[in-house]
Amino acid sequence: MKKLQSISANAHRRVADAKRRGLLANMSKTFVKCTDCDNRAEQYDHRSYAKPLEVEPVCNGCNKKRGPAIEIRALGTNHVR
Ligand SMILES: [Zn+2]
Repeated sequence: MKKLQSISANAHRRVADAKRRGLLANMSKTFVKCTDCDNRAEQYDHRSYAKPLEVEPVCNGCNKKRGPAIEIRALGTNHVR
């Protein structure tokens, strides 16, 4: 799934870029609360890679519970590779 890989890589690049520009909090430097619980958020969760900057901060546990972005789910798998 080369195309999906590049879509997800692009979405992650956009998030990294937004962090650099201060549009999204850098959670390795700042405490950001998980959207779903009170733990420290560790990553930005994409619900759809078609909206690369529509992300929510979540901890690893909640990110797993949420499952993959819809583009990956549509393939019936949990992983891009
Ligand atoms: Zn959480």
